[in-house]
Amino acid sequence: MKLEEIRHKFLSFFEEKGHTIVPSAPMVIKNDPTLMFTNAGMVPFKEFFLGNAIAKDKRVTDTQKCLRVSGKHNDLDEVGVDTYHHTMFEMLGNWSFGDYFKKESIAWAWELLTEVYGIDKNDLYVTIFEGDEKDGVPRDTESYDFWKKWIPEDRIIEANKDDNFWEMGEMGPCGPCSEIHIDIRSDEEKKNVDGKTLVNQDHPQVVEVWNLVFIQFNRKADGSLEKLPETHIDTGMGLERLAMALQGKQSNYDIDLFQTLIAQIVKQSGFEYGKTESTDIALRVIADHVRAIAFSISDGQLPSNTGAGYVIRRILRRAVRYGYQTLKMNEPFLAPLSKVLIAEMGEAFPELVDNKTLIENVIREEEMSFFKTLEQGIKRIEIIIENQKEEGIKEIPGAQVFELYDTFGFPFDLTALMAREAGMTLDQAGFDKALQAQKDRSRSATSLKTDDWTELLVDEKEEFIGYDHLEADVKITRYRKVVQNKKSFYQLVFNLTPFYPEGGGQVGDKGYIEFDGEKVSIFDTKKENNLIVHLVKDLPKNPNASFKAVVNTEKRTLSAANHSATHLLHHALRTVLGDHVVQKGSLVNPEYLRFDFAHFSKVSDEELIQIEQIVNDLIRQNTPLNELRNTPIKEAQELGAMMLFGEKYGDTVRVIQFGDSIELCGGTHVPGTGNIGWFKIISEGSVASGIRRIEAISNHTAEKYINNKLEQLSNVNALFKNTKNVVQSVEEILESNNRMQKQLEQIEKDRAKNIKGDLKNNIVEKDGMNFLEAIVPLDGGAIKDVLFQLKGEVANLFAVIGGEKDGKCTLSIIIDEEIVKSKDLHAGNMIRSAAKHIQGGGGGQPFFATAGGKKPEGLKDAISEVKEMV
Ligand code: ATP
Ligand code: MG
Repeated sequence: MKLEEIRHKFLSFFEEKGHTIVPSAPMVIKNDPTLMFTNAGMVPFKEFFLGNAIAKDKRVTDTQKCLRVSGKHNDLDEVGVDTYHHTMFEMLGNWSFGDYFKKESIAWAWELLTEVYGIDKNDLYVTIFEGDEKDGVPRDTESYDFWKKWIPEDRIIEANKDDNFWEMGEMGPCGPCSEIHIDIRSDEEKKNVDGKTLVNQDHPQVVEVWNLVFIQFNRKADGSLEKLPETHIDTGMGLERLAMALQGKQSNYDIDLFQTLIAQIVKQSGFEYGKTESTDIALRVIADHVRAIAFSISDGQLPSNTGAGYVIRRILRRAVRYGYQTLKMNEPFLAPLSKVLIAEMGEAFPELVDNKTLIENVIREEEMSFFKTLEQGIKRIEIIIENQKEEGIKEIPGAQVFELYDTFGFPFDLTALMAREAGMTLDQAGFDKALQAQKDRSRSATSLKTDDWTELLVDEKEEFIGYDHLEADVKITRYRKVVQNKKSFYQLVFNLTPFYPEGGGQVGDKGYIEFDGEKVSIFDTKKENNLIVHLVKDLPKNPNASFKAVVNTEKRTLSAANHSATHLLHHALRTVLGDHVVQKGSLVNPEYLRFDFAHFSKVSDEELIQIEQIVNDLIRQNTPLNELRNTPIKEAQELGAMMLFGEKYGDTVRVIQFGDSIELCGGTHVPGTGNIGWFKIISEGSVASGIRRIEAISNHTAEKYINNKLEQLSNVNALFKNTKNVVQSVEEILESNNRMQKQLEQIEKDRAKNIKGDLKNNIVEKDGMNFLEAIVPLDGGAIKDVLFQLKGEVANLFAVIGGEKDGKCTLSIIIDEEIVKSKDLHAGNMIRSAAKHIQGGGGGQPFFATAGGKKPEGLKDAISEVKEMV
C-alpha cells in the first residue's frame, strides 16, 4: 500500500464515522509565545481543549505536518541514528471535542488497524496507564476493560506516567493515554523473544504506532490536576511508521518516499545504502532533513540566525555536515535533492510545487555558506592544534571546542576527529560545561511562568468589535499573572474588546481602560490560543468594575494607513515585477511598514519609482474600502483573493478590497486609500536568497521624511551661498579636496626624504654598530618606511627613533639581523620596557619593534633606556 493510499484510507475511515476531514495546519507557528512549530496533531486544536473556543465540528480527522526539533519534544539527535524517528513527520489523527470518549476511540482504532489495514492481531500490543498516586489518578481500568474485548489480556501492558500520561506542557489539558505498539520482526525472532518484553524498550522493530490520548484533566500552575468539564479524544499515528508496517519493511527509511531520496544521494555520493552503519546514518539524516527543510520554507520559515529560523538552519547544517564528513560531498547536494522530494510529494502538498524555485535557491545558498564556514572552522582548528603543540599540550580546551561549535557552527565530533588525527584529545567535560552554561543562559532568557486564570465572569466568547469601534464599555472576564524574562505583567480578557491583537504582521493596539478616575494603561494586545489578551503592568484596583476601554486612536490610524499601503504595495509589485511576487512576511506598525516577497533579483531604481508611483496614484484615486466579513472561503477565492501558504484560514474569511487589490486579511484598514496620504519607499534589499525586503512609510511619517530631506538640502545650499547648482558645487569641492590631498601626500613624502637624509648624517659608530638616535616629526608608518630603507643602505644598523606627530608619539627600534645574533638583542623586549616612559605599549620581533604612547615628553628617557640596554 503506497503512502498516498494509507493516508486516504485513514481519513475516509473516520469520515464514515461522522468526522469532518480538515486540512493540515501550517507546521510553522506564528504568534504563539509558547511554541515555534506544530509538534503534535493536537496543536491546532489547543483552543478547544483549553475551552477558549467551541468547536464547530465535534468530530474531526486530519493528517498534520509535525516537527519535533525543539522544546518539549525534540527528537533531533535520534533522527537517522535510529530508523523510526523523523524531524518532520505526518501525524494522522481523529478528534472528539466533548463528544465520544474511550470506548469508541479504542474500538475504532482496532477496527481500522486490523480490518481496514489488515494488520495481524498477533503483532499488536497495547498499553494503558497504571495510575499515579502523587497525582491522585487511578489505574485506567476503563480502557483496560474496553481493550479486553478486542485483544487477549496478556497483550495489555501497564505503563507509568512517563510513557502513558500525556501533557501539552507545564500546564494545561492532559490525561492518560493508551498506545498501540507493533512487532515487525521476523517470525524467527518472534519465536525466540516474546514481543511483549520489547514494548517501550526502544527496540527499532517493536515500536509505538498510535497514541490514543484521553484528555480529562487540566494541570494547574501549582502542579495539581483538576477535572475538565468535558472530556476529549486526541489521537496521533505516525504515517511513516504505519507505512513501514504495512509495506512489510523494517525501517521507516525503506518506505517508498525515502527510498527514492536515498537512491538520489547514493548516486551523487557514490556510497551505497545498507553497507556500513555510519554511511547509512548519514544517508538517512539527509533524506529526512531535506523534507523538513523544504516544508518549512514553503510554510514561510526561512533559515536565519534567530528563533524558528535558527532551528531550521541547524537542521540544514546537520544534514550538510553528515554529507561533508561521512559521505565526502563538498558541493551542494541538498538543493538538487529538494527537486526529487518535490517530484515525490508535490501532488499531496501543492505548496511545495508553488515554492519550488525558492526552496531550491534558499537551500543552495545556505549550503554554500555553510561549506565556507566548515572550511574556516578547519583552518581555525589547525591553528589551535599548532599552538597547543608548541606549548607541548596534548589536549584542546573545552572552551575552544565550544567556541568552534558556537561561533563557526562546528560540530563536536568533527573537531574530535581532526584532533584525533593530530594525536590530540578534546576536553569533553569543559565542552559540556560551556554548552550547559549556554543552555541555562538561553533558558533563563526565555523563561515564562504563567499563573492560573482567575475567572470573574462566565462568558462564552470574547467578541472583537475593533473593526467598527475604538471605544467600548467592557468587563474583565478573567485575568492572570505572567512572568516573562523576570518581568511580570497581567493578561486581561474582556467580554468584548475594541483592541486589535497583534496578527497578520500588524502590531497590537495600545490604549487604556478607565474606571472611577483610575486609568490602567494597556501596553500591548496579543492573541493566545484564540483569546485576545490585553497586557497591563498592574491590575486595576477593582477588577470587577465596568471599564471604559479606549484604543490609542493615533497609533491605530497610522498602523491602518501602513497596513492598507502594504496591500497596495503588494499589488504594485505584482504589476511591475510579475505574478511570481508573493508575500513572504510583513510588519506593520504606526511608524513604518516592512514587506518581504519572493523575487530573484534586485528591484532596480526605475522599478522602485514605478512601484511608488502606482501606489501613490491609487492613493490619489481614493478608492473606498470594500470589506467583506464572514465570506465563505470558496467565494473569496472566486473573487480572486490571494491566499498565502503557511497561513491558517477558517471556513469563512475576511476580504479586504481596494480596487484591484484583493486580499484575505484580518488587519485594520483605512476607509479609503486617500487616508494613506502619501507613500514613500525608503529601502530595498535582500533578506535571503530569493527574498527581497522593501521598507516604506506613509502619511505624516512620509511627509516628515521628505521635509527633513528638503531641509538638509537647503542647509547644504546655504553653505554654498545658495548656489544655483548644488550638485555641481559639491562636485567641485570634492575635486579640489582630492587635489589638495594628493599635494599633501607629496609634501609628506618629500619631508620624509629630507629627514632620512638628515638621519643618515647623524649615524655614529659605536661598539662596532652604526648607531642612530633621533626624535622626528613623523608618524609610526612613515618612520617604519624610513627605517627599513636605511637598513637596506647602512650595514650593522641600530636605530632607536622617537616620533611625534599630532599630539601622539611612537617609539621604533630597528636592529640589523647580524647584530641581533652577535649581541643577543631583542627589539621587541627592549621596546616593551622603554614604552613605559611614554605611557604606552608595544612589541615586535627581535629585529624590529614599535610602540605607541600618550606622553611625547617621555621620548628622551625612553631612548636613553634603550641606549643603556645595548
Ligand atoms: P516515541 O516514544 O516513539 O518517541 P512518542 O511517545 O514521542 O513516540 P507521541 O507523542 O505519542 O509519540 O506521538 C504519536 C505518534 O506519532 C507516535 O505513536 C508515532 O507513531 C508518531 N511519532 C512520534 N514521534 C515521531 C517521530 N519523531 N518521527 C516519526 N513519527 C513519530
Ligand atoms: Mg518521542
